[in-house]
Amino acid sequence: MAERSCTVDACGNVVSKRTSYIEWEEYFMAIALLSAKRSKDPCTQVGACIVNNDKKIVGIGYNGMPRGCEDDQFSWSKGPMDSLDAKSLYVCHAEVNAVLNKNSSDVKDCTIYVALFPCNECAKVIIQSGIRTVVYLSDEKAEKPKTIAAKKMFDAAGVTYRPYSLRNEKIEINFGDIRCNETRKNLSETPTKCKKEDETKEE
Ligand SMILES: [Zn+2]
Repeated sequence: MAERSCTVDACGNVVSKRTSYIEWEEYFMAIALLSAKRSKDPCTQVGACIVNNDKKIVGIGYNGMPRGCEDDQFSWSKGPMDSLDAKSLYVCHAEVNAVLNKNSSDVKDCTIYVALFPCNECAKVIIQSGIRTVVYLSDEKAEKPKTIAAKKMFDAAGVTYRPYSLRNEKIEINFGDIRCNETRKNLSETPTKCKKEDETKEE
């Protein structure tokens, strides 16, 4: 993340807003990616974050087994597809879970942020739930029939999709960092006269 400094007065008080905050789109995509870290899938961890027009998060999900289907009792194997051990028979995708986990009456006209372009099954749920926009980080399975079918359905249903434009390659979360991290060492602008100085002169 690009470090920028804030304006600090002669007494060391920060007098301007913090400028190194993350943008809304970064925030929502980062939440999708953070949610993916909850996934037990050994190969693909995907997260999704649904946001309404007021920029409120109304649903979050990641790929996982259905409730009651214990992670240790069901197979996480890829296949073969006709085997009862194929995880695809059981795992709920992130987009579906995000829609089902919604904390609003519906997700009509919302935007969904996803790490991977949705598959055809998730596309059906996205369309039927009324979500209007898909923002995705990766389209690495673009050549797969599932992705092609998903796009075909989105196009027909008027659901728009666009790639996430990467701003920061990395957003670091440090649990130890609970203080203002705009260090006063990074003074880049001329300090302004501080209140304390004025008060001292009056006395
Ligand atoms: Zn899917």
